[in-house]
Amino acid sequence: MAFAISANQLRRDGKPVTSIPSPYTGGALPSPTRFLVMHFTYGASALSSAEWFRSKANEGSSAHLVIDRDGSVIQCVRFDKVAWHAGQSTWRGLSGLNQYSIGIELANWGYLNPVGTEWKTHTGVTIAHPHMAAHRNGNPNGVKGPIGWEAYPPVQFQTAAEIARLLAESYGVEEIVGHDGISPDRKWDPGPAFDIAHFRSLVFGGRADNSGISLRVDVAEGLNLRSGPGTTFPVVRLLPAGTLVEPIERDGRWLSVSVMNAQGQPSQTGWVHDHYLS
Ligand SMILES: [Zn+2]
Repeated sequence: MAFAISANQLRRDGKPVTSIPSPYTGGALPSPTRFLVMHFTYGASALSSAEWFRSKANEGSSAHLVIDRDGSVIQCVRFDKVAWHAGQSTWRGLSGLNQYSIGIELANWGYLNPVGTEWKTHTGVTIAHPHMAAHRNGNPNGVKGPIGWEAYPPVQFQTAAEIARLLAESYGVEEIVGHDGISPDRKWDPGPAFDIAHFRSLVFGGRADNSGISLRVDVAEGLNLRSGPGTTFPVVRLLPAGTLVEPIERDGRWLSVSVMNAQGQPSQTGWVHDHYLS
């Protein structure tokens, strides 16, 4: 599977990917395009979301790409044009991130509702084996503690990373952010099931930026992993001394981190105070 970009269109194995152009676009994106914003669709197939982006009933939303759960890709907006995916948003002192970013939507149901012992989508479909986590911005339904989120299949995650790498090379993308990072008061996508620290490390590898650096819990009695940036947030669990974590983002002295398991794989996200890391 090989991706390439020609005339601002994504190609796979020598052919353009499926194109369903959205009319909801703005002017030209600046070059370089500094940011890549990741989203979930909160919906069914990539096709259904791409058709929504083309629909007249739509209030005016779009994204450059939609990636399905099986890794298939639909392009809705050329990479050199503004797509309408971010809305009100701020990052690095900029506001209105549509003007500075490429947007990728991942077909995913997002947060799920508990029904008996099952977790269901907002349309009532049961999702087996959801990713259980609390959102760092607070859960959308106001529930404290972990809730179910649809997991991202590895082929979808890996395909997105491969495309993101190509976009970084082609358009000078320097940072990958979640919609929930740039609009934290109203957005939950791509959410805790999307391991953005791992994603950044796949895309940027050993490049010198603030991702992909491991820190170690350096306090004998262990360190509380919390659901938010402060001691008022509930403790998710105690991280034993020596646990490796990868920073995702900072809020004062608090770091959102991805916790590595014994195999060195990201296993959980949460917040820790940076005083106890080295
Ligand atoms: Zn979004």
